[in-house]
Amino acid sequence: MQISEKQLSQVNHQIRALVSAGSFYGKKLEQAGIERVSTPEEFEKLPFSEKSDLRDAYPLGLMTAPEKDIVRIHSSSGTTGLPVIIPYTRKDVEDWAIMFARCYEFAGITPMDRIQVTPGYGLWTAGIGFQNGAEKLGAMVIPMGPGNTEKQLQMMQDMGSTVLCSTSSYALLLTEEIEKRGIKNKIKLRKGVIGSERWSDKMRRRIGEGLGIELYDIYGLTEIYGPGIGINCKYNTGMHYWDDYLYIEIIDPHTLKPVPDGEMGEIVITTLVKEGAPLIRYRTHDLSRIIPGECPCGSRFPRLDTIMGRTDDMMKIKGVNVFPSQIEEILQGFPEVSSEYQIRISHLDGKDTMRIYVETNGSVDFADLAGRLAAKVKSVIGFTPLVKVVENGLLPRSEKKTKRVIDERYD
Ligand code: ZN
Repeated sequence: MQISEKQLSQVNHQIRALVSAGSFYGKKLEQAGIERVSTPEEFEKLPFSEKSDLRDAYPLGLMTAPEKDIVRIHSSSGTTGLPVIIPYTRKDVEDWAIMFARCYEFAGITPMDRIQVTPGYGLWTAGIGFQNGAEKLGAMVIPMGPGNTEKQLQMMQDMGSTVLCSTSSYALLLTEEIEKRGIKNKIKLRKGVIGSERWSDKMRRRIGEGLGIELYDIYGLTEIYGPGIGINCKYNTGMHYWDDYLYIEIIDPHTLKPVPDGEMGEIVITTLVKEGAPLIRYRTHDLSRIIPGECPCGSRFPRLDTIMGRTDDMMKIKGVNVFPSQIEEILQGFPEVSSEYQIRISHLDGKDTMRIYVETNGSVDFADLAGRLAAKVKSVIGFTPLVKVVENGLLPRSEKKTKRVIDERYD
């Protein structure tokens, strides 16, 4: 998706605001000697914005509009170090609600729907984003916030909620509770709008069939308004995103160069009309790709694929970008292996090698299985790994997140 003339002029407007506010990005531009951009090539030379830049601006260094125009702040949950504070003007809050209402519309949600909001309210952007968008649309909000499953299920029945907004894990928990209590016939849900974490098809089917609802992935991040900047339509061919508010590029996280449409890489977002805290070429570290071509729904809004993970998970082997999720998907096609696996990458005799360890039970021919797995990986990724098959239970397990990829090249 090449940047358009109109988007370029919007970027220049954002650049002027950032420079006159003396923000970190204004300083980056001064250092690079850039005052404006007039071509897509010039745009691609603009410096990136990083999460660390945003952290360094704590508390209010990102504020780009005059304080009299700032009406609210939000904050990303900083697991490490300082959080990021994003100031919003009235127009930013309004634009976000418009984008979010558009998400609901793409999901076929109407002013006659009753929307139960279970993500958290407070400093982060989740609950309030779902709520403002629903009010903009004109639907009835049931602002539950997270937890208290007992009360959630009671209100869901009494209010006749038709839409559930939730994380995938909470939607799964509610599905299991509803089944356990045998109250499915008292539930009127017809759609679920699920925050865009990576979730497996298996889980999606479980929730969709368990509740008998259609599911929609909503995308967003606090640094760029919040959730609501993209969603899939009923054809489920990727998430449409709102290119009248945002310009999205996909870059190779190693070379930092944009990749062609259709290729996997890191999502980089530029805000086009934000006032409180505009961001130019913000590296999200989320992995996805632009889906080329037109959606059967006929919408002109471009599409991003479902989020495939984080750049930190990505491995570059023999010049090829490989994601653990790709290997995981391949393994899921082999019912004879367990859910445990380990990937080891090393550099031997001047060459990168990838070893994949999988488990199976004693009734399987190990050599035959290893051969079939290696051939499948080669057909998907383009090179042949060494596959080692071991007895069930031999791979390490951990109560926390098991480390599945070990890169020995940089030890
Ligand atoms: Zn569509």
